[in-house]
Amino acid sequence: MEGTPVTVASVRDVGPDTVALELETPPEFDAAPGQFVLLRAAPEGEEIARHYTLSSPSVGETFELTVGIDPDGDLSPWLADLEGGETVHVEGPFGNITYERDRDVVAVAGGPGVGPAVSIAEAAREAGHEAVVIYRDDAPAHTDRLEALEDDGATVHVLEGDADDELAAAIDSHVDDGQVYAFGFADFVTAVADAIEDAGGDPDDALIENFG
Ligand SMILES: Cc1cc2nc3c(=O)[nH]c(=O)nc-3n(C[C@H](O)[C@H](O)[C@H](O)COP(=O)(O)OP(=O)(O)OC[C@H]3O[C@@H](n4cnc5c(N)ncnc54)[C@H](O)[C@@H]3O)c2cc1C
Repeated sequence: MEGTPVTVASVRDVGPDTVALELETPPEFDAAPGQFVLLRAAPEGEEIARHYTLSSPSVGETFELTVGIDPDGDLSPWLADLEGGETVHVEGPFGNITYERDRDVVAVAGGPGVGPAVSIAEAAREAGHEAVVIYRDDAPAHTDRLEALEDDGATVHVLEGDADDELAAAIDSHVDDGQVYAFGFADFVTAVADAIEDAGGDPDDALIENFG
């Protein structure tokens, strides 16, 4: 199997249908918040590869991926059932969307996009910058980290899954508050780009990762 073999250190529930996979960092591996890896595994003996975005603000002895479980999916339910100690293969990091701890951020997330959004906000606060998180999900994950961010001075908006108007209003309020990042599946990031434009911003200035 291509990629570097990596041990799964732990898997824990971080919300409804959402797990955080802690992976042992391979030698020479370095990544910035916002980047993603290609993860390969063979659940039924047949190799599957999927992309996952870092959800830890840094890469030390381990790094974290947040996986939304698609019950009909081929890989995410299998990943969620891991217990730790297994080996998966990782390539990367990939992606030009990075946070370099150099500015204020507005991190917008739908579904499992909350992982990278929270990690970028945490990195911003660690570096002394302002952070806004706008997160739309019917069943929010990483609520403990969102609360910790709020306690640390970040602005956090958690919106219902169908809250289109509230999403647009939150983006309108914060579009000029820092570098805008957006993470989520296609419908969500398209709605975010439209809302940025409606708010008078330029979607091309936003760093948007489409999960497909
Ligand atoms: C750059 C990038 C970053 C990403 N980061 C993350 C992340 O941080 N966290 C995260 O959770 N996800 C992320 N994703 C999405 C992730 O890579 C997977 O797509 C996701 O986990 C689903 O994989 P799966 O194998 O479980 O589901 P899949 O097997 O890919 O299936 C997904 C859905 O499609 C349906 N489907 C599959 N094949 C067909 C078909 N032939 N016809 C009709 N329907 C079909 C399935 O029923 C299922 O509902 C990212 C994607 C990209 C591109």
